[in-house]
Amino acid sequence: MADLFVELLTGQTTADGVTAEVVVVMHDSSLFGDDDVPAWIPGHGPLPAGMVKHWLADPQAAKFFRRMYTRATDGQLVALESKRRHFPEGLSKMLAIRDDTCATPWCNSPVEDADHRKPWAHGGTTSWANATGLCKRCNQRKENRGWSYSGTPDELTVTTPTGHQYTVPTRPPISQLRHDTTDPPIGPIDIAWPAAA
Ligand SMILES: [Zn+2]
Repeated sequence: MADLFVELLTGQTTADGVTAEVVVVMHDSSLFGDDDVPAWIPGHGPLPAGMVKHWLADPQAAKFFRRMYTRATDGQLVALESKRRHFPEGLSKMLAIRDDTCATPWCNSPVEDADHRKPWAHGGTTSWANATGLCKRCNQRKENRGWSYSGTPDELTVTTPTGHQYTVPTRPPISQLRHDTTDPPIGPIDIAWPAAA
């Protein structure tokens, strides 16, 4: 019955060639170094780092690596790198909330494009850290000689063809938080008050 089940499910007459995808989260210092922080299978639990490295050494297994970024202070997951050139929908939406309007300092147009701050063609990653929300006009102009956008999720620096640089900080998404005030927000904003990072 088990053989029949496998055959119906996979189209294979034996179970030898059944493929399975296993997601394993592992610290880079354990994967590439000698640390022995246990790896983790989401939804299941820990695995010894040495065992996972042994699996990865299996030449028959196809492996896909994806970098995840965590906050230094508490290890909380803050970003996931995408191997694709196009930004995933969720990341684009998050970007439009973060940057609010086109991130170019003097432009207040609506965000229309999720752009690679360091161009994809020059090795820029499709990631939260390398993403800028831009209007179409700024995105197109940025491709011209002499323009460059650089920075981090916390600030953006735009260099123009004349060599001038403009740096602007990324502001919190709720407008009340954009002003330096210790007063708690009032009214309906209360229900959306975010925890301090
Ligand atoms: Zn713009």
